[in-house]
Amino acid sequence: MKTLKIANIPGDGVGKEVVPEAVRVLHTIADLHGGLKFEFTEFPWSCDYYLKYGQMMPEDGLKQLQHFDGIFLGAVGNLNLVPDHVSLWGLLIKIRREFQQVINIRPAKRLKGIASPLTNPKDFDLIVVRENSEGEYSEVGGRIYQGEDQISIQNAVFSRKGTERAMRYAFELASKRKAKVTSATKSNGIVHSMPFWDEVFQDVAKSYPHIETDSQHIDALAAFFVTNPSRFDVIVASNLFGDILTDIGAAIMGSIGVAPAANINVNGKYPSMFEPVHGSAPDIVGKGIANPIGQIWTAKMMLDHFGEQELGSHLLEVIEQVTESGIITPDVGGRATTSEVTDQIISHLKK
Ligand code: ATP
Ligand code: MG
Repeated sequence: MKTLKIANIPGDGVGKEVVPEAVRVLHTIADLHGGLKFEFTEFPWSCDYYLKYGQMMPEDGLKQLQHFDGIFLGAVGNLNLVPDHVSLWGLLIKIRREFQQVINIRPAKRLKGIASPLTNPKDFDLIVVRENSEGEYSEVGGRIYQGEDQISIQNAVFSRKGTERAMRYAFELASKRKAKVTSATKSNGIVHSMPFWDEVFQDVAKSYPHIETDSQHIDALAAFFVTNPSRFDVIVASNLFGDILTDIGAAIMGSIGVAPAANINVNGKYPSMFEPVHGSAPDIVGKGIANPIGQIWTAKMMLDHFGEQELGSHLLEVIEQVTESGIITPDVGGRATTSEVTDQIISHLKK
């Protein structure tokens, strides 16, 4: 029996509504499979927790999480009561940093039955691998002079290790998919870091001769996400470029409520964290209409991560059978509730 110990952090708002739904789905999959078991331990760390105890998680929170196989997170944030920098830095960013989750991955795929805002929405099925620890989001820089002479300097940091790590991850992932990696670059305008990025990409590509490669400037690449996303399989991008591309990726799927994500620890020292793209959605909380697909698809990414790709692929097929059948929540134009969508997914899994 393969047992996966997962730390659940439902967090705030609709996170508390969709995490239990995804947990139901994972237990169903494990029961049907027989050789797999999930052991969930729930942690109430959230903005509510902060309002009670003055911190987002206890002092030894990271220690408590460290020995889990994975962290399954809902959403964190309650802007009315806790400023974003407190809720994010006190929990999410702390976990990402301390657990060296140096890569962020976000798939974008057209789901049957969900309207895409694209004018010519052909099928697409891509995944963005974003370097998540350095690049343009560095703290190196500062300001000098005052008034009209004032200058601000922001340096980007690209290490050979960090860059190569992201690229290897992308190539490995592409090996299990359609065997194509596109690199997001801008070496015609950014003259130090991006030519370096291109060099590392070419070096890493040499170890993967069976993978087709392509390099696109970020401006053109962003446009292709809108005009022809079906040309992509895996895209590897720096922190800033990946941030932008993944938002476009979520947008072309039709709702942020269906978009999944994972923060990956690649050295195996700490758990990876799986969380949907959406936030706590305070405007719909308590109404029972939150789309559970983002969280359930995130569970699929967790299955993939733990080597259960077959189960993961099947779950995504089932999600799509359900969206195609029209049992969808209001954010994507339907009338179903959160639990109705989950019930359907579960009953299709049992077929
Ligand atoms: P936070 O501060 O937690 O990031 P936010 O309001 O900034 O919250 P989201 O929570 O992602 O950002 O909400 C953005 C919009 O998307 C809202 O209108 C929300 O209702 C909608 N939304 C987010 N998640 C879902 C979901 N799972 N199902 C349906 N709609 C959603
Ligand atoms: Mg937000």
